[in-house]
Amino acid sequence: MAEKEFVCIACPNSCKLTVTETDGELTVTGAGCKRGICHGKNEYTNPKRMLTTTVAITHGIHPRISVVSDGEIPREKLAECLEYLYGCQVQAPVCRGDVLVSDICGTGVYIRASRSMKKINDI
Ligand code: SF4
Repeated sequence: MAEKEFVCIACPNSCKLTVTETDGELTVTGAGCKRGICHGKNEYTNPKRMLTTTVAITHGIHPRISVVSDGEIPREKLAECLEYLYGCQVQAPVCRGDVLVSDICGTGVYIRASRSMKKINDI
């Protein structure tokens, strides 16, 4: 029998979850709703997170633009994805929702601009 504890991040209630594995079966206690049960099982077997960060942009009104993943990324790939994005440079203008990176680090997830940014000469 193995047991791990997590805090559910699916809503602000932050329920304290305990996931117990017995003979390959997972049980979740402490969840205030079904979402928490699902979250606990996912955290135990394959934890994933949305990725938000910034990317360097040339000719923009700011030096960096905020970006967000359009899906969850396996937690063990997050550092690799962040390192990749740290080395990226995009060109202004950019519209909110534009795909700036496709299939980041082989995850199948797109990285999109989470805001628009004009070219500095277009202001
Ligand atoms: S278990 Fe349900 S109620 Fe509790 S934090 Fe998660 S989503 Fe919210």
